[in-house]
Parts: sequence; C-alpha cells; structure tokens
Amino acid sequence: MKALVIEEFGGPEVIRLAELADPEPDAGEVRVKVSAVVVARTKDIATRAGRPPFAGQVRSFPHVLGTEHAGEVDAVGPDADPALIGRRVAVSAVLACGTCRACRMRREEACSSFGLIGVHRSGSYAQLCVVPESGISLLPDDVSFPQAAALAGNGPVARAQLDAGGVGPGSTVMVIGAAGALGATAAALAAHRGAQVIGVDRLALKPGCLDGLPLAAAVDGDADDLTGAVRDVTGEWGVDCVIDNLGIAAVWHKYRDSLADMGRIVVSGAISHDPLPIQLLPFYLRSQSLIGVRTGNRTQIAALWRDVAAGFRIPEAFVDAMPWETAGDAHRAVEAGISRGQAVLEVPPARPKKSDILHIVDYRPR
Ligand SMILES: [Zn+2]
Repeated sequence: MKALVIEEFGGPEVIRLAELADPEPDAGEVRVKVSAVVVARTKDIATRAGRPPFAGQVRSFPHVLGTEHAGEVDAVGPDADPALIGRRVAVSAVLACGTCRACRMRREEACSSFGLIGVHRSGSYAQLCVVPESGISLLPDDVSFPQAAALAGNGPVARAQLDAGGVGPGSTVMVIGAAGALGATAAALAAHRGAQVIGVDRLALKPGCLDGLPLAAAVDGDADDLTGAVRDVTGEWGVDCVIDNLGIAAVWHKYRDSLADMGRIVVSGAISHDPLPIQLLPFYLRSQSLIGVRTGNRTQIAALWRDVAAGFRIPEAFVDAMPWETAGDAHRAVEAGISRGQAVLEVPPARPKKSDILHIVDYRPR
C-alpha cells in the first residue's frame, strides 16, 4: 500500500509518499480501505513537528500519521465480525484499555493508558489502516467519506462539549473560534439541538469565515466590546454556555462578563499555553462552572452517530477536502490558522475497482 510517512520530526516537508507492506488485522481488529482522513492540529501537526502532547509517544520511524478517518472495511481479523467486510465506516482514533477505573466508568477519554491511532500505532494517512473493531461506526449511505471523517474527528468532542455545557433547546451558547474545525461542528450541532448560537471569530481578518453556519449572530473576537455585542443578542441575562477552543487570555477577559448566572465555560484547547488569572468569586457567587473536555467517549460517539442518523451534518463549506498529495500544504494552512472548518485528505484507492476507472478513451482510428 501507499502511505504518507515521516522519518523524522520537522516541518511539513518531512511528509513523503512511501510504499509499505499491507497491514494485516489481528484479533478483534478490522482493516479499513481509507477514503478520507482529517488533518488534526494537535494530533497530527504538533506530532509531525515533534511538539507535545503526543510527539514523545511516537515509537519508531517511519511513522504514519492520521487519526479519525472513513472508508470501507476490506478485511477482518480473528474474532471480528466478517459481516463488516464491504461496509462503509467511520473510525474513532481513541484507544482505551477498557479495564482502568475511567474505562469502567465509561469515561474512555480519561483512560490511564489513553492512546491514539496515528500516534501510538500506525495511522490513516495510508491506503489501508488496521483499527480495533470497537472503534468503528457504520455510516448511513448518504454521508460522504470526507463528511464522515470530519464528523468522526470533531462530532464526539462537540457532543461532549454540549453535554458538559448543558446546551439544549432554548439555551444560548457562544462558540469562540467558530470558523475552526471543532468550533464549526459545535456551533452547527448546538443549532441542531435547538440552541441559539453566537459565533465568535476574527471577522475583520477573515471576512465571511462564519458564512454558512446556522448562527443567531456572528461577532468579531477582535472587537473591543465583545460583551456589549453579546448582550445585544441575549439581553441582560448573558450566555448560558461559552465553548472556548482557543484558551487565549485576552479573549477570555472579553467574554468572561457575558456568562449568565449558572453559566458554564467549556474549554477544549489552550493554544497560547499562557496561564490565566481567574477570579474565583463570581464562580460561586453566580453558580457558574468551568469544565474541561478532552474528547468524546464511546457513549458520546454512539450519540453523535444517532444525531447524524437524525439529519445532523457539518455544513459543507466547513469540510475542506483535498487530494492527499497536498498534505504538506494542508498542514501549513491549518498551522497558520487560515484554513476554514475541517481539512480532509482524500486517499486514492489501493486497488481500483472497475467502477472507479472513470475515463476509458476509445482511441481507435475511424
Ligand atoms: Zn482505560
């Protein structure tokens, strides 16, 4: 099979195309013929660059990156269900032990030996990827592979954020970084749940970056008076939930006063790594909460695919599919923060079926 590999940590130029032996599924595993794979900022890009939190856990080179993906099962190992062969699936990259205290509580995201496909084992920037059978979800026929990969990548996390934030019909949620891959998914899923959604992003710098999201309001995060802009939408009550995927101190100080009594701030990112001085007083005087969400667990993954069966999709403008030959450019764009929504690499089939050969030219002279 062909795969995109790295032989050392470094810039996007260390990603190169290589020929590797076809991987074979072991007990409880299935092999997926990959059609689409997400480009993930922390899981792929930081790892490729040799940065924490995951680069130190790459065991050997050449290494194949690639976490959540979608494709068709083409082989199964012993004990795996042979009826899965030929089925269209999406794959979660989360690897959990199943036996630790967190796993017994069905909180696999806090597993004491938490791992990821694409970090702790060979990933899905490849024509074939072997994964645990427990990590796959069957796809409805009308969900494209790029949409499925994007849903698998961000859907369970967004679902976990909205559950933690108590976001439902009638509530107001503000999403910081709403044009990003996770932000756009959380904003769209919150609206699908019946919430009123305020999207915040750098509108002056990236005009139109929130177009296509089902928002009650789009607000420029660089504006001086973010709280005033939010109050225009919510009135004096404020927002019931803030989803902050950036963790930038300057932005925190701008939205902090917008949070309603009993409001929840949900954080799933800290790109600046700056410590944040927090006034604890309002948290207890106003019954507010600050909640960290790492990723979705198996319960939230199953719930996400029920949302998809009920019609939830990420707006197509926020699924940016491109050929896998351009993986280096995709890494550059995501790293620079100029991509919109979820970047997805489309992987060509290892062994084209006859139906995949589109252009048969009849060149016989007449
Ligand atoms: Zn565990």
